[in-house]
Amino acid sequence: MTDGRGGDLPLTTWPPRPRGHHARMTSALRNLILILGDQLDADSAAFDGFEAARDGVWMAEVREEATHVWSHKARIAVFLAAMRHFAAGLRGRGWDVRYRAHGAHAAATLADALKADLAVWRPERVIMMLAGDGRVDAAIRAVCVEAGVPIEVREDRHFYATPEQFATWANGRRELRLEWFYRDLRKRHRVLMEGAKPATGQWNYDHDNRNGFGPQGPGFLPAPMCFAPDAITREVIDLVAREYADHPGDLGAFDWPVTAEDAEAALQDFIAHRLPAFGQWQDAMWTGEPWLYHARLSAAMNLKLLPAKRVVEAVEAEYRAGRVPIAAAEGFIRQILGWREYVRGLYWWRIDQWAIDNALDAHAPLPAFYWTGDTDLRCLREAIGQTLRFGYAHHIQRLMVTGLYALLAGVDPQAVHRWYLAVYVDAVDWVEVPNTLGMSQFADGGVMASKPYIASGKYIDRQSNYCRGCRYKPDQMLGDNACPITTLYWDFLRRHRDRFKDHPRLGLQVRNLDRFDAATLDALAAQAARIRADASS
Ligand code: FAD
Ligand code: SF4
Repeated sequence: MTDGRGGDLPLTTWPPRPRGHHARMTSALRNLILILGDQLDADSAAFDGFEAARDGVWMAEVREEATHVWSHKARIAVFLAAMRHFAAGLRGRGWDVRYRAHGAHAAATLADALKADLAVWRPERVIMMLAGDGRVDAAIRAVCVEAGVPIEVREDRHFYATPEQFATWANGRRELRLEWFYRDLRKRHRVLMEGAKPATGQWNYDHDNRNGFGPQGPGFLPAPMCFAPDAITREVIDLVAREYADHPGDLGAFDWPVTAEDAEAALQDFIAHRLPAFGQWQDAMWTGEPWLYHARLSAAMNLKLLPAKRVVEAVEAEYRAGRVPIAAAEGFIRQILGWREYVRGLYWWRIDQWAIDNALDAHAPLPAFYWTGDTDLRCLREAIGQTLRFGYAHHIQRLMVTGLYALLAGVDPQAVHRWYLAVYVDAVDWVEVPNTLGMSQFADGGVMASKPYIASGKYIDRQSNYCRGCRYKPDQMLGDNACPITTLYWDFLRRHRDRFKDHPRLGLQVRNLDRFDAATLDALAAQAARIRADASS
């Protein structure tokens, strides 16, 4: 067996096969079921019609998936630990699982590994689910075509809407807005509905869900359930620490659910202890409190350990039983049935566009402190620090702290995208790309969001206590104590004035800018240029 470059590609197998269990090594293999690291659902369509006597499962740990962006150690560990547990579960059913384990001889890419194995096993057919990354999807299809093995790509039942359904909804619309797509899905799947009307008569409780904690802080916070690494996960953690020692992030706090059972327990824990307050505090931030009332379920759902439909049904059941208010249930369901489905639809709908998007013509490099947290802007230090420690930040930290700074500073959105894909345990292309390039960086020119998400430091001050311990003042635009985010906010409006002056939702902000006299505008431009230069150095 060779890797196509003349090197050996021995098949290492993990976990070790049970005694007496032999993989079928002849041409009798009918279907080879290809399972990627984010497709860990034994009830998925990939297994429809599976016959243990005739079919085999193929999984591979390859370096490329940990290195094509400079992945956080915890992100690599979540994927590998979940894959190994999943493979062990399938083997426990007596299924033939051909697992290429990471090791000294690990294949460099999925394409290398698959090519080598198809040449030996010659299955009649490869079956897989649509990949979560267009790059991987294209690579696998190309290998199968080259090898002359037919490939069947099956619909992913995890999601409510298929990419085709989204395209049908989106094509021909003048503008796409989450709210209309979300309402369609609620009606079609009868979620939080009373007949043809939304439960309680109101579709959306967004306005009830924007509170900050106020000066007194969040008070008692229920700690989320932890999942101490078992022997399999510890082995993975050691492997990642050894093989990816120079990658960003820590492994010391690793406690993510990596099995379907753990993911279900995490869901139950969230529903019992944090869901009732989720809606109210979902936009709030607090120093040293990474989880607040958030679910911590995104990685488990994205790896398909936890069905999204199960989550939505469980949350709706809590509302119907009178145990959570409608604002909390609707606010949470909107994130999953709404945003999560919407971004996936958008991802595939404009799959060829994302990689070239840069509507605001932004070219500054990503500041080095994004990889270290070493900055005196306290909001960024907090959000990046917890990202490096846990591989986690909640939505408002991603959108209105790290994303906001990069947008205002004019950082190249493709560099911003690579950072987000690298540093979060839940990062998979289909969900990270539209969130970063569309929602956060406005690189798509407004396809996803009707306006750029911009704000001054005063927004961060309202939503958190970060500013209280910061050396800068959120309400100051100029001078030594001026908040860099406030300076960059006004400078963003100055730089993009012509583009947004007639925008229905930004026009007012531009008119406020127009009140500044020429000397103030010059001073603003000079101070913003210094901030950008310092951040790039
Ligand atoms: P909660 O805040 O408790 O929300 C509940 C669930 O809703 C999440 O688990 C998630 O599945 C879903 N959800 C909420 N918002 C979104 C959204 N905008 N898009 C899709 N699903 C959503 N989410 C990812 O899963 N992977 C990513 O790579 C990712 N990258 C992001 C990049 C940027 C710039 C931004 C602004 C957001 C990104 N998000 C991403 C969305 C969101 O930040 C995370 O889903 C959320 O923080 C995960 O934490 P949680 O499970 O505690 O979620
Ligand atoms: Fe961030 Fe500005 Fe607040 Fe400091 S003052 S924490 S830089 S928003």
